[in-house]
Amino acid sequence: MSDCPCRYCLQPFQPSRFRPDQLVCRSDCQRRRRRDYHRRKIEADPVYAQVVRDSRRKWCQAHPDYQKNYWQTHPQAAQCNRQRQWQRDQKRRVQNLVKNNLAVARKPHTAEPKGAN
Ligand SMILES: [Zn+2]
Repeated sequence: MSDCPCRYCLQPFQPSRFRPDQLVCRSDCQRRRRRDYHRRKIEADPVYAQVVRDSRRKWCQAHPDYQKNYWQTHPQAAQCNRQRQWQRDQKRRVQNLVKNNLAVARKPHTAEPKGAN
């Protein structure tokens, strides 16, 4: 058996003797592999994406207070989430400003009235 590098952490590892074609090493990297597969599958397969949406909707309907309870029982996570949301909002604001400035910069060229002189 030869050690080959893991696709994710690039560390050499010994594939399982039950899965000699294994490309990813241990549980953390396996989790990343499954998450990547899931994301790619959602983008590529609309039926799969719909099944995932339906499943999430059903779960949310069965557990309506879950998210509210989670934020109340995990104040650190709530604070962290608030900060990340603030950062996303700032980024969106900057992007909108850039878009608006570009629109203003283009306006004199595009909005020139014909035959005004
Ligand atoms: Zn790995």
